[in-house]
Amino acid sequence: MPASEKNAQLPAPSKSTPTLSGDDVTVVFVLGGPGAGKGTQCANLVKDYGFTHLSAGDLLRAEQERPGSQFGDLIKDYIKNGLIVPMEVTVQLLENAMVADLDKSGKGDIKGRKGKFLIDGFPRKLDQAHKFEESVCPAKMVLFYDCSENEMEKRLLIRGQTSGRSDDNAESIRKRFRTFVETSMPVVDYYQTQNKVVKINAERDPEVVHKDTQKQVEAQLGKNF
Ligand code: UDP
Ligand code: MG
Repeated sequence: MPASEKNAQLPAPSKSTPTLSGDDVTVVFVLGGPGAGKGTQCANLVKDYGFTHLSAGDLLRAEQERPGSQFGDLIKDYIKNGLIVPMEVTVQLLENAMVADLDKSGKGDIKGRKGKFLIDGFPRKLDQAHKFEESVCPAKMVLFYDCSENEMEKRLLIRGQTSGRSDDNAESIRKRFRTFVETSMPVVDYYQTQNKVVKINAERDPEVVHKDTQKQVEAQLGKNF
């Protein structure tokens, strides 16, 4: 068998160097339970610092809707049940979105391009965290929005009246809380051991949370990062 044919049957080698360098690209992970206010605060930070905001959930929902996607049904199932979609899918969607953003001019060469990304609602499982940092880009900090389940449930049920989301209902919410505690909190704990986590009380008024976030981001990254 010719070598090329043999190679075609091998799985792609796992990448040992990330696509993007942490010297050029600032990655901030934004974590917190469902309904903690991640999306709201990310919108504020985009205005404040010119971040590009990428919501893993939004990217998955877009992929689910994309005609011809081979992952549509799988994503639909996982989201409705509050489970974490297999990491390969989400990491690839994020990498594609980051590369597309860095290559806005469409010239294709993104080496050395500067960028700042808020990655909202990701990583929610340890395997995703490792895979992303190994193959896409190392992260500089983690914003963790801390909120009680009572308050989050209230917010999600209100959002559910207009969001049209398949998972903003009492049963899916219960499953999402469970996944958060069992699967996503270990990610926060892991980054805490690396001193990368800034914990913010998200129980408060959104404007107060915003001010607190600004203070913490600047303490961690400086004013002109
Ligand atoms: N999701 C996932 N992997 C991720 C991020 C999200 O599988 O890395 C799925 C998961 O099922 C989650 C859903 O997408 O419950 C909705 O995520 P989103 O971040 O939109 O929800 P939020 O927490 O903001 O309410
Ligand atoms: Mg969100």
